[in-house]
Amino acid sequence: MAPKLTGSVALVTGASSGIGAATARELVGCGASVALVARRRDRLDALAAELQKAGGTALVVEGDITDRTQAEAAVQQTVARFGRLDILVNNAGLMLLGPVVGADAEEWERMLAINVQGLLYPTRVALPHLLKAAEEGPRRVADIVNISSLMGRVARNGRGVYNLTKFGVNGFTESLRQEVTQRHVRVGVLEPGGVHTELGSHNRPEIQASIINPFYETTEVLAPTDIADGVAYMVTRPRHASIGELWIMPTDQV
Ligand code: NDP
Repeated sequence: MAPKLTGSVALVTGASSGIGAATARELVGCGASVALVARRRDRLDALAAELQKAGGTALVVEGDITDRTQAEAAVQQTVARFGRLDILVNNAGLMLLGPVVGADAEEWERMLAINVQGLLYPTRVALPHLLKAAEEGPRRVADIVNISSLMGRVARNGRGVYNLTKFGVNGFTESLRQEVTQRHVRVGVLEPGGVHTELGSHNRPEIQASIINPFYETTEVLAPTDIADGVAYMVTRPRHASIGELWIMPTDQV
């Protein structure tokens, strides 16, 4: 039997590390051709070489998707190369934690830019292609998976602006789902708990010492492949079944 996504084209943002890289591997394993989008070209080139060596098809698209022109170009390059787009995984993100009192506003701006605009810009230009794929493509369905977080479900002290962005992702996702689901574009949110990636390493040393490290030292966190597995599950359901929300947690995380 042919893999479930043979002939489909996926675009994964933030494919240079962590969950995005694992998701790209998983989707290629399911038979999709995948566009890898992020800023670090060397990482994307290495992943593309690995995928191609294994018989897969990958396109490297270097870009900063907080810039609208670059985000739109990433989608356009994907469609120019593969002729279609069936799956968009909005995964790129940044988690800078800490109290609101005395916060660094520049950290907020960086986080809002990638977690909000970095999701909206690719989505807007991808939608016409996804609607077309749902109408004409072999699967007769298309998918958007937005990587949110446990922090899109519950607010926690010291996570205020990250909470703001991920609660926003959840609200936007459900609204868009209602807008396009009857045209067979499925829109869903995947909410991971703690995953072993580079995400925490972008925080200031005092935040790593007070919030990040204690959590990772006391929790058997997920692997990026656990989340990639969830993305693959969402996008390989039969046409009549849409997963609007998938919440994946380490078993020992409260
Ligand atoms: P990583 O830090 O490992 O990956 C983040 C990815 O986002 C990188 O590939 C990075 O690539 C990309 N990225 C960041 N800024 C930009 C930008 N301006 N333009 C393009 N790409 C960008 O973290 P994770 O894999 O953990 O994070 C992936 C998603 O999962 C995020 O949305 C995060 O909020 C979410 N998440 C993660 C959890 C965890 O515990 N790890 C838990 C819950 C949710 P580059 O730097 O090369 O541009």
